Amino acid sequence: AFLDRIVSVDGAIHAFLHVDADAALATARDVDARREAGEDLHPLAGVPIAVKDVVVTKGQPSTAGSKILEGWIPPYDATLVEKIRAAGMPILGKTNMDEFAMGSSTEHSAYGNTHNPWDLERIPGGSGGGSAAALASFEAPLAIGTDTGGSIRQPGAVTGTVGVKPTYGSVSRYGLIALASSLDQAGPVTRTVLDSALLHELIGGHDPRDSTSIDEPLPDLVEAARQGAAGDLSGVRVGVVTELQGEGYQEGVQARFDESLDILRAAGAEVVEVSCPHFEYALAAYYLILPAEASSNLAKFDGMRFGLRVEPEEGPVTAERVMAATRGAGFGDEVKRRIILGTYALSAGYYDAYYGSAQKVRTLIQQDFDAAFGQVDVLVSPTAPTTAFRLGEKLDDPLAMYLNDVATIPANLAGIPGISVPNGLTAPPEGGAELPTGFQILAPAKADDRL
Ligand code: GLN
Repeated sequence: AFLDRIVSVDGAIHAFLHVDADAALATARDVDARREAGEDLHPLAGVPIAVKDVVVTKGQPSTAGSKILEGWIPPYDATLVEKIRAAGMPILGKTNMDEFAMGSSTEHSAYGNTHNPWDLERIPGGSGGGSAAALASFEAPLAIGTDTGGSIRQPGAVTGTVGVKPTYGSVSRYGLIALASSLDQAGPVTRTVLDSALLHELIGGHDPRDSTSIDEPLPDLVEAARQGAAGDLSGVRVGVVTELQGEGYQEGVQARFDESLDILRAAGAEVVEVSCPHFEYALAAYYLILPAEASSNLAKFDGMRFGLRVEPEEGPVTAERVMAATRGAGFGDEVKRRIILGTYALSAGYYDAYYGSAQKVRTLIQQDFDAAFGQVDVLVSPTAPTTAFRLGEKLDDPLAMYLNDVATIPANLAGIPGISVPNGLTAPPEGGAELPTGFQILAPAKADDRL
């Protein structure tokens, strides 16, 4: 049914870069046979899933939305993909994304735009717009995303789906094509919170192949999601982050958010305001730390080891000239912009002023979170400041694009978990049909069950 749905709507949505119907059906038939034989199967056995193209899948294209990886077929599976396969979940295909997960709209994909199912003229968020759009258009019941600065949560908000960024180290990064290693985290993209809990429990847990993987069992997420569904919040203290609301937040987004606070109060929660004074600097620190780490991680794409190889048009064919020609042709503008920013920030003489200062800000933001979680159980904010903007609207203005991540970035800088849940609809500023908004909840590290 999902493969049929992909055939009928993905021409308009373009959530998928690659669909492997034969492989998905083979897994489904195998699960059917095992079920008939009375085998004890995982609860998600037979449930199809879509995987963001930044996660490597053995024998299937994995481009991370970049021309530089066109034609590269990974010889191994990411740990989370191994777990998905072991559970008997058919992988429908790989989803579209901003190149190397840099962006908030999926417009930086080298393979064309993904369209928001709520309004095809609008962005589905990014960088994981493909996974979110696949869920919102019912092309897949579950998907995998990655979140370095909001790429699971912000697409969730603008497509009316659920997205979870787990605690850093909760889900193995082995087999993720790295963007910024100290910030990257893979997680569930779903339509319900219980689905997220089921998927997180499957893909999470300790992995010796990821040196930052947490070496302890996950909290009982499914049980927590079931209990949470009872809706009793008495005794729960909810902190509204002063710095993540008001100016810059679309009026309707703020209004839906305020209404949800009333719902929390009615369910018994105590809602208080909490200030995180250093969040003001989070975006600036992130846009130094991320490009610095990305410039180092992307150095491996040299025209020799993976995918694309372009020889210089004239002159000698040396290693350096092949590298330059390949990177010139294979990387898009946003990737080049961030590599230049990152190498500059790391260069001798500038390191202390830029990268060093950004790391100090990162510590201050972690301290803001520590102080806040001393007063409240969870922190909340709108997930994104606006509803989905129009395709092309922010493409020529990188700073405007970056500002869309203002509410999601602090969690990545501190390594804490966050979730975005659907929060009702509001009309875009220019009028027209109503669009989804998102409600973000943040919890202390390793308290993913609290979300
Ligand atoms: N939009 C953010 C960026 O461009 C977040 C990216 C992400 O989480 N992968 O960096």
